[in-house]
Amino acid sequence: MSSSSTSKNQNSPQLRKDIIFNRWVIFSPARSKRPSDFKSKSSSSSSSNPTGVRCPFCIGNEHQCAPEIFRVPDNNPNWKIRVIENLYPALSRELADPVDETGSASSVLDGFGFHDVVIETPDHDVVLSDLEREGIGEVFVAYCDRILELGKRNSIKYVQVFKNHGAAAGASMSHSHSQMIALPIIPPSVSARLGSMKEYFDQTGKCSICEIQQEDLLIDSSTYFFSLVPYAASFPFEIWIVPRYHSAHFHELDAEKAADLGGLLKQMLRKISLQLNDPPFNFMIHTSPLHGDESELAYTHWFIQIVPQLIGTAGFELATGCYINPVFPEDAAKILREVNV
Ligand SMILES: [Zn+2]
Ligand SMILES: [Zn+2]
Repeated sequence: MSSSSTSKNQNSPQLRKDIIFNRWVIFSPARSKRPSDFKSKSSSSSSSNPTGVRCPFCIGNEHQCAPEIFRVPDNNPNWKIRVIENLYPALSRELADPVDETGSASSVLDGFGFHDVVIETPDHDVVLSDLEREGIGEVFVAYCDRILELGKRNSIKYVQVFKNHGAAAGASMSHSHSQMIALPIIPPSVSARLGSMKEYFDQTGKCSICEIQQEDLLIDSSTYFFSLVPYAASFPFEIWIVPRYHSAHFHELDAEKAADLGGLLKQMLRKISLQLNDPPFNFMIHTSPLHGDESELAYTHWFIQIVPQLIGTAGFELATGCYINPVFPEDAAKILREVNV
């Protein structure tokens, strides 16, 4: 990634270009007191998850849920993970596959697609970061299996995996779960990311993620992955987990790498919980389109983005697409490195 040509003065704002998402970020440290003061005002678990609560996602309440797609282990009443349909899907799997209108000027499509829920644990009181590294790895493998199944349809162009943890991050159920939305289109921010990575590749012959600047931004690393605060992070304490090896598609992950990734994700979630007062957070898996052009494989490289919800999105961000981040990534990385989990 491009490095800064000007030295950083702690007190003056700086603009940095995020060359992956192709947007400018304003770093404005004067807007907060000290980076370490940047804690969540309310813990994500303070209002939810009193012990003993049961919900439709709990083991034994399967009949209260929308239909199951598969469970892990298969056919086992003592399941560890269930992938089910969303009771209130954003898109409908009942509609006919749309005719491929790629390249047409059509600006309307039937709302065809899949909206699934991944219940990460049978136990209401367990959160994702409580699971062992292998347990989190099995959740990743479940995402991969479902993406491979959805990818058998030519009409599905992109699958977005995401997790909302805590009501302020958009979670309507406190029982630990994540979601997958399979789309008949490539979403605009994915197209922008691909375009930006292609531009870097065309100019340098290299993958922008393989070349990512680590130095004082690195938080930790494992056998196959590393975690860092990106140079032009849009959000305070945003973390990326990146494969050390070049890989375009998340769903190519095997069980060994999934467990390794599980270990590093667990560490990062525990670090933000300890340093930022258990904040609500989102994580998103940024992968490459299904059935894409072969040439995309050379310059696309998947990664996970974790965003603690510490500040809201307001008018300026909505208007400009430019985020204002009060914490310099170097400072955020230092605070996250400091805590041992
Ligand atoms: Zn529950
Ligand atoms: Zn790469």
